[in-house]
Amino acid sequence: MRILELHCDYVKVKPKQKALKTVADLTEAEKAGLHLENVLVVFSSFEQGDDAVVVDQAVAAVQKNFGEIKATTILVYPYAHLSSSLAKPAVAINLLDSFLEKVRVFCPNAQKSVFGYYKEFELKCKGHPLAELSKTFGTASLSASPQSASVGFAGSPGAALEKKVAELGGKGANLFSAPSVFADYGAASVANVKPSHTLEAQRNTAALLLAHAVSTELGGSALCGFGKDAEIYVDFDSKPVNSEILDVLDLRMDALRKKDVAIKVHALDKKAAEKHLSSLQKEALADTTAEKVLMAELEGKWFWLPGPFCESSGKAEAFALTRFGGSYWKNNSANKALQRIHLSAFGTAKERAAFLELQKEAEARDHRKLGKQLDLFSIHEEGVGFIFYHPNGMVLYKELEKLLREQYEQRDYLEIKTPMILNEDLWHRSGHWDHYQENMYFTQIDGVPHAIKPMNCPGSILIYKTKPRSYRELPLRLAENGIDHRHELSGVLSGLFRVRAFTQDDAHLYVTEEQILDEVTRFIQFLDFMYSTFGFTYQIALSTRPAKAMGSVAFWEKAETALKEALRKNKKEFTINEGDGAFYGPKIDFRIQDALGRQWQCGTMQLDLQMPERFDLNYEGSDGKRHRPVMLHRVIYGSFERFLGILIEHFAGAFPTWLAPTQVMVLPLTDNENDYAEKVAQQLKQSGVRVKSDLKSGKLEGKIRDAQIAKIPYMLVVGQKERDAGTVSVRRRDGVVKHGVKLAAFEKTVIQEIKERRLYG
Ligand code: ZN
Repeated sequence: MRILELHCDYVKVKPKQKALKTVADLTEAEKAGLHLENVLVVFSSFEQGDDAVVVDQAVAAVQKNFGEIKATTILVYPYAHLSSSLAKPAVAINLLDSFLEKVRVFCPNAQKSVFGYYKEFELKCKGHPLAELSKTFGTASLSASPQSASVGFAGSPGAALEKKVAELGGKGANLFSAPSVFADYGAASVANVKPSHTLEAQRNTAALLLAHAVSTELGGSALCGFGKDAEIYVDFDSKPVNSEILDVLDLRMDALRKKDVAIKVHALDKKAAEKHLSSLQKEALADTTAEKVLMAELEGKWFWLPGPFCESSGKAEAFALTRFGGSYWKNNSANKALQRIHLSAFGTAKERAAFLELQKEAEARDHRKLGKQLDLFSIHEEGVGFIFYHPNGMVLYKELEKLLREQYEQRDYLEIKTPMILNEDLWHRSGHWDHYQENMYFTQIDGVPHAIKPMNCPGSILIYKTKPRSYRELPLRLAENGIDHRHELSGVLSGLFRVRAFTQDDAHLYVTEEQILDEVTRFIQFLDFMYSTFGFTYQIALSTRPAKAMGSVAFWEKAETALKEALRKNKKEFTINEGDGAFYGPKIDFRIQDALGRQWQCGTMQLDLQMPERFDLNYEGSDGKRHRPVMLHRVIYGSFERFLGILIEHFAGAFPTWLAPTQVMVLPLTDNENDYAEKVAQQLKQSGVRVKSDLKSGKLEGKIRDAQIAKIPYMLVVGQKERDAGTVSVRRRDGVVKHGVKLAAFEKTVIQEIKERRLYG
């Protein structure tokens, strides 16, 4: 909640017209407006996440100010322009009423101006030192980026799947072309004309209600959508959507559902369908091959959407509009900008409630919000899509790096570092110039075009080629924590999850065909160790030979068998995506599951026959002849940025001690123990513990609260008793307290906990 308090000689307010369609009409008295004198005007914005506690804090602040300035009355003025993270109107109205009610306790004649209307106002500010005050309460304002409102539930499984991270080198349709989001709506079959009651039908019916609501509220037609299971999104060529409009659409959909209107479905031929379509829809229709066009009729309006549908609007029992954002016609930023709305359908109202609960929990864990609260990172207008790591965030980053490097030592990886900018010629040879250009950034050096690397493979290959290689050197495992730049549309950027520059924990393994099985086995064990360190379970999918593939069928069979065998040998269950491999080799993808059960694709291992071919890689075999090595691209984190984002949300910011930016906070009871507190901190620091002491004057409760907000694993409270006995009172983050612990004993256990990288103390 944000407020701006102005002490005014007078204020005049008059409503002009509705800003929200959902608000009630005005009474005669309300239409007349207000004219108040010697008034404290409290402009108020209610934000996402605000609750009674936040309102109480604001009331207390207003009461204090009101008592000091001696105004006669208060005007509570709902004013949306103070925040970019507004609460939904229905929520805001309730908060506003409760705010006014509580203000009337100490100022019985307090008034409010009407909510949801455009208003003209005139005021004269008194201009004394307390006449202008602005304050923020609650956490909504902590959201790190303005994207928060438009991204909403960024961590839904659908969103996680949408983002194919860690696509690795080589030329191939599934690596180089952006996934097509333009789905053909034209295909209609007789089966889709019949009513159905499946989840898919409920989802489509909800999409139909949405299309109806959008056409009424914003104008514009549904253009294309992409659905998977219970999730779907629909693009509209309508007026812009915002969170308030989303609420209105939600209400309209609910009203349609309650009316339980019959849905008629028509299969028309293209010509007959055209008169029901907008110009963009006609363009889409021209692209389809289907003979028949499926149109759904609801309350006399016709909509072009994929079926099947339920028999009536009331059968779409449980759905939720999950988020909204922008897109472009045919996914091309040169085209018209569209509004994209996501929705989910549910089998039962109970499932819907569970989903909304999860969504709430996910919002509370939003890494952009926690990133600010814990002072981990920031994003600035001066570099959109790029991450600024703060000292605390850098601790996390370095811990991830350290863990990885320890393992590289043990697992015989060799670390390299290659340049960020390389010339045009290299990117021609790698295929990126021809197939990945849209995602790359370019520059010139000495008049020669250069590119900023989007992937690390070509650099690694140049090192491989610096000398003749023998079979005795293989497998050669070259690791590089390489910084890559890839262009993303600004609308899809999202905190740490979707950025324009990131560091991959990349490695390229050069192996003989015979070594594939062993290398894949080793990789699975490596990855298993890493993910279990963070408490992640994971799922595996194997993608096999597509119809068009390079290399012999015999090679593919051998490679796929090796991958499967390695998985079985490690007792790993996996699903097979038949024919989904890149044309240059099969791959294994690893999807981790976080504390909320959401899945994130992070690790991957991809076999590659093509790069060795393009760059003419070879080694001398034991037979004295030249052979082509197989190249394996692999990552475990995927990117440090995204993995950190996942970790922040997975742990809700309460990191295990080994990761926590500050591991121990020493809190002296009074100033008399400051020296001892310093001594305790010094001793722990010398043992390598990240420790701070809070020596500022103030009550212990306040210091404990500060440490709790910073989610510090251990607080050591020291008073006179502790000082005299050389002990500490250990207070864990979860509230468990242990008195009279010898400092040496605490030191020993905490060092052990950190060393073992334990998840819990
Ligand atoms: Zn690679």
